[in-house]
Amino acid sequence: MDFDFTPQEQAFADDVEAWLVANHDPVVMDPTRENFTQLADTPERRAFMKKLANKGWLGMSWPKEYGGQEIEGIYEFILNEALARHAAPQIGKGVGIIGKTLIRHGSEKLKREFLPKILKAEIEFAVGYSEPQAGSDAANMQLKAEKVEGGWKLNGQKMWTTSAHFADWYWVGARTDPEKPKHDGLSLFLIPMDHPGLEVQSLPTIGKDTTNQVFFQDVFVPDEYLVGQRGKGFQYISEALDLERFTMFTLSPITERTRVLIEYVKEARRDDRPLKDDPNVRRLVAQIATDTAVAKALSTRFVCAAKSGSGKPPTVQSSQYKLFTTTLSQRVCKDALDICGASGQLRVDQDDAPVSGRFEGAYRATVNETVGGGSSEIQKNIIARRHLGLPKNF
Ligand SMILES: Cc1cc2nc3c(=O)[nH]c(=O)nc-3n(C[C@H](O)[C@H](O)[C@H](O)COP(=O)(O)OP(=O)(O)OC[C@H]3O[C@@H](n4cnc5c(N)ncnc54)[C@H](O)[C@@H]3O)c2cc1C
Repeated sequence: MDFDFTPQEQAFADDVEAWLVANHDPVVMDPTRENFTQLADTPERRAFMKKLANKGWLGMSWPKEYGGQEIEGIYEFILNEALARHAAPQIGKGVGIIGKTLIRHGSEKLKREFLPKILKAEIEFAVGYSEPQAGSDAANMQLKAEKVEGGWKLNGQKMWTTSAHFADWYWVGARTDPEKPKHDGLSLFLIPMDHPGLEVQSLPTIGKDTTNQVFFQDVFVPDEYLVGQRGKGFQYISEALDLERFTMFTLSPITERTRVLIEYVKEARRDDRPLKDDPNVRRLVAQIATDTAVAKALSTRFVCAAKSGSGKPPTVQSSQYKLFTTTLSQRVCKDALDICGASGQLRVDQDDAPVSGRFEGAYRATVNETVGGGSSEIQKNIIARRHLGLPKNF
């Protein structure tokens, strides 16, 4: 199999790179924001997404009838990785998760209402699956959706909803059929984030991340804002999570950190001796460089599987990719802090911080990566069951 980009793909990658260099804006592209670089959470970052939309780079893989170009997903992969490399906001939730799920399962009304807004970068989403008693076991959601005249009344709580403090719409799973087995009793809804009865409480977390808990009190959702079929919510969420594990956990920040670390090792001195002569340092960076190459191979494998597949996201490849890259991401930062020595703890705004303090912040930011979008243990369960054919463990 040929893993190289085709001439057309390479031309697109070159185009994107040149455009990102020409449109560099340090307010928008700030690598010290680490995980949060991917969100369009400020006016400047939303304006940047509109520029991307004007280039015709949002929804390239979508069908033409919904405003897409029907070109292969590899182009979105190339774009997203380039955005991540430049620490710019990414196409993530709107195009990759909500848009693709609506195209597969949404009503014509929802497609007409939301898809054009996603393509024009006019809308930001928050995704609400997790609850106090439903994280890894997402099928255990208890947010109650009760059938009422013309729609649904929602009561309960969501946990860890990233983006709820600035998003326009909420993509939410709720229990519509409590008498059915737990996987069959869930449905998906779209709710405006400023809906009366929705209360967002901020949860500042490790690194510079902020996530939220959201409380629902008699939130009315009209029938037409139920996504797809009643009771199919868990199926849609599982498909969307396969996409999230890939689109939200890009490889470029890891390859960038690896590159920056190797440059530092080549130049820096400790106790008057070049770091590059230290055998422990050499071993660490050689291992990191090798593992980064493995991560690239896993990412290429996912893209190839997606290219040759039925259109459904490749679940096993997606889990293997997320498991490996998110643990590698943490290891790169931990090893970098070891290599930088005591001053590696200095923060990004300290003058003497090695590598401009990059790894102190990155280390904290990467802690969340092995949890969000399904923890490493859950990825291993998926691989054991779906790839190796082993029995369920719960
Ligand atoms: C920063 C951040 C942002 C997030 N953003 C969102 C968001 O926008 N929307 C959203 O819906 N959720 C979000 N989440 C929630 C995230 O998806 C959950 O935290 C995750 O699914 C784990 O669930 P939990 O925290 O309830 O832990 P639990 O499910 O209680 O797990 C606790 C521990 O037990 C392990 N474990 C659980 N079940 C098994 C099993 N069957 N086998 C082996 N080990 C197991 C887990 O791996 C973990 O180590 C976010 C989380 C974080 C930290």
